[in-house]
Amino acid sequence: ISTTRLDRFISESYQVNRKAVRLILAQKRVYVDGVVATDIAQIVDQFSTIVLDGNILQANKAHYIMLNKPVGVVCATKDEKHKTVIDLLAGQFEQATRDSLHIVGRLDLNTSGLVLLTNDSRWSERLTSPAHKVAKCYQVRLANPLTAEYISAFAQGMYFSYEKITTQPAALRIISPFAAEVILTEGRYHQIKRMFGRFQNKVVALHRQSIGQLSLDKSLNIGDSRALNSEEVVKIS
Ligand code: URA
Repeated sequence: ISTTRLDRFISESYQVNRKAVRLILAQKRVYVDGVVATDIAQIVDQFSTIVLDGNILQANKAHYIMLNKPVGVVCATKDEKHKTVIDLLAGQFEQATRDSLHIVGRLDLNTSGLVLLTNDSRWSERLTSPAHKVAKCYQVRLANPLTAEYISAFAQGMYFSYEKITTQPAALRIISPFAAEVILTEGRYHQIKRMFGRFQNKVVALHRQSIGQLSLDKSLNIGDSRALNSEEVVKIS
C-alpha cells in the first residue's frame, strides 16, 4: 500500500505548489472519504477517496473476492488459450474492478476450488507470506491407495532439489484409500502433486477447500464469485 501526505498528493495530482495547496485546504475545498480535510499532513493512501471542488481526484476502493474455480480455467489475468479467473468475474464485477485485481495464491489449471482475488496488495502479501503460515486445505483424489507412510513423510517435509528447499510440515489425513485432505502452509509450484509423486501416486483431482479461517461458500456454484464481507476480510488476515 502506498501512503502519502495529503498536501503532496494534491500538489502532484492537481499540479499546484504546496503554498497553493495550503490555501485550497484552508478554503475547505477538499474532502477525504467524505470528510472535509484541512490538515496538510493528513496521511492518505491508494484507497482514500479524494475530492477537490466536487471533482474526484482519486476514488479507489478495495476489493476482496472469492471464486469457486472450475477445472480448465487458468489462474492468470490474461491467457491466449484458456479462460482466466478474471474472465469468470465478468458477470458480477465491472471491467475497472476486474482490471485492478491480482490473484492471491494460484491454483493449477486442473485444480478447482477457492481462489481469492484483490487489489489490496498488503492484504494479499500477508496471506501469501511464508512467515504467516496461513493454512490452505485441499481435498485430493489419488490413482493408487494411500498408506500411513504418507502421513509421516508429509509431516517431516520433503526436499525439493530444484528450489533447494524442504517443504514445511504438512498435515495429511486419509479419508478413504483413494482420498485425502492435505493442509499446507505454503504454496510451492505443483506442491501437492509433487509430494504425492514421491510415492509414484498420481493426483487425479485436487480441490482447495479453505484458506485460513475462510472456507469456500457452499452456495457458490462452480465458476461463480462473490465479494467477501468485511468480517471475512478481517478474519482471514
Ligand atoms: N498443489 C498443486 O499441486 N496444485 C495446486 O493447484 C495447488 C497445490
